[in-house]
Amino acid sequence: MNYNSTRDQNVCVSSAQAIAQGISVDGGLFVPQQMPTLTKEDLVEIAGMNYVDAAVKVLSYFLTDYTHEELVECAKGAYVGSFDDDQPAPLAKISDTAYSLELWHGPTCAFKDLALQILPYLLTKAAKKTSDGETKVILVATSGDTGKAALEGFADVDGVKILVFYPSDGVSAMQKLQMTTQKGNNVGVCAIRGNFDDAQTGVKTIFTDPQKGKILKEHNMAFSSANSINWGRVVPQIIYYIYSYATLLREEAISYGEEMNVVVPTGNFGNILAAYYAKEMGVPVGKLICASNQNNILTDFIRTGTYDRNRDFYTTLSPSMDILISSNLERLLYHLTDGNAAQVKAWMESLSATGKYTVDDATKEKLQNLFYGGCADDTLTKQVIGAQFEKNGYLADPHTGVALKVYETYVAETQDTRVSVIASTASPFKFCKGVLEAIGQDASAKDEFALCEALSAKTGYAIPASIVALKELQPRFTDICEKQEMWQTVTTMLGLN
Ligand SMILES: *Cc1c(COP(=O)(O)O)cnc(C)c1O
Repeated sequence: MNYNSTRDQNVCVSSAQAIAQGISVDGGLFVPQQMPTLTKEDLVEIAGMNYVDAAVKVLSYFLTDYTHEELVECAKGAYVGSFDDDQPAPLAKISDTAYSLELWHGPTCAFKDLALQILPYLLTKAAKKTSDGETKVILVATSGDTGKAALEGFADVDGVKILVFYPSDGVSAMQKLQMTTQKGNNVGVCAIRGNFDDAQTGVKTIFTDPQKGKILKEHNMAFSSANSINWGRVVPQIIYYIYSYATLLREEAISYGEEMNVVVPTGNFGNILAAYYAKEMGVPVGKLICASNQNNILTDFIRTGTYDRNRDFYTTLSPSMDILISSNLERLLYHLTDGNAAQVKAWMESLSATGKYTVDDATKEKLQNLFYGGCADDTLTKQVIGAQFEKNGYLADPHTGVALKVYETYVAETQDTRVSVIASTASPFKFCKGVLEAIGQDASAKDEFALCEALSAKTGYAIPASIVALKELQPRFTDICEKQEMWQTVTTMLGLN
C-alpha cells in the first residue's frame, strides 16, 4: 500500500517512507491510498487472538513493505512486558451499555504508549529501508503526554535523537516531572513560553524548512516526527478499536453486525481518526463521538462546518486536549472529499492565513453523519468524575471525564442506547489535584506525591509504579526558551553550533 500527501496527490511514498519522513515536504500528511476491508471472518479471527497477534494482522494491511517477521518483532517488542498483565487495551464495564477502554496501563500511564511503544521499532526499520545510516532527529511538540511517551519509547534507541518541547505552563505537575527526569543519552527536553499550538507550529515549521533540512543532512541527520502527524502514530491506534469490537464479540456483549458507538476525548484528532479508520475498514461502528473540553473548536466545527481558531485559548484540567489546531482533521477532510488534495490545501492555507475555513455542504453533511461533537468545561467534568465514582466506584481522569460527560449529553439528546466504548486516555494519578477535587477531597497539599497518596487512600486505586518511581529522580532538564528560539535550541541540543 502506498501513501499520498493530503496536499498533493502526486506525492506517492511507501509506508516505510511515510513513517521515516513523518510529514510530506508540501506540509501535508500521509494518508493510505486504499482502505483495507475486514470481513466478518477477520473480526471473528481477531476475537480469538491476543493483542500482539491482532496488532500484526492489522498492521499488515497498512505496512505492506514490512515483512511478517518484522511486524511480529515490532508488536512483540512493544506490547510484551510493557503493559500491566500484557493487556494494552482492556475494556472495563461501567454500565449496562458503556465500556471504558483503558488505554493507560503502559509505562507512562496515558494512551500515547499504545503507539509510542511501537513507533521506535517501526521507525528504525523504516530508516533502514529508506536511508543510509542517517541519524533520525525526532522533534516532538507535546501537550503533556506525547512527550513522555515518546521519550520513554525512544530513549537510548540507536540511530535516533529525540527533542521534546512542552508549553511551560500548559502541562500538569506530574506530566512535567515525568519529562524533566527522563533518562537516556539521546534525549533532550525544553519548555517553551507559549501554548501547545505554538510548540506544534514551531516544530512543523522547522520540519518543512528546506534550509534546515539541508543543515541536518550535512551532519548526516534527518528530521522525523513522533507526533500524530506521523502515520506511524495513527496506524497502531486503529488496532485497539478493532480489538475492542472483537473483545465485545468474544464476551458476547455484542453480536456481529450490531454497532458500537465510540467516544473519544479529543485534542489533535489522532485518536478519534483511528476510530474512523476502523469504521471505514468495516468494523460496525455507529457514531463517532468527539468530546472536547472548553477549547471546543471541534464541537463548533462539527456543528457548523466552520473551523475558526480566532478565539480564546483556555488552560484546563485536561491539558492534553488544550489545542486549537487539530492536525489530524486534515486527514479526515482528505477522505471526506474523496482525496481532493487541492481543496484540502486551500482550506489549510486559509487556516494559516486567516485562522479559519468553512467546508462545503456535501463535506459538512458527511461529517455530521459520522460524528457527533460535544464539549464539557472543568466544572461539568469534575461533576461527572465525582458522580461516576460515587455511583459505580469508577475513577476517571479529567480527559476521560470530558468524554463521560459528552457521552451523557449525547445519550440524553438522542436516546441512542447502542453499546458504547469510551476511550479512557490517562491514569487519574497524572492529574491528582483535579481528580481529588472532583471527588470532594482536600487537594491543598503542595507535594504531588502527597496528593497521589491521598487519592490512593481515598479510592483504593493503586498508584502506578512508574509514578511512584519518579519520586526518587532529580529533574535533568530545566531550560525554557521563547517560541522564536526553538531552532536555536535544536542546534544546541544536537551540538551543531
Ligand atoms: C493526547 C491526549 C488526548 C487527545 O488525543 P488526540 O489524539 O490528540 O486527539 C486525550 N487525552 C489524553 C490523556 C491525551 O494524552
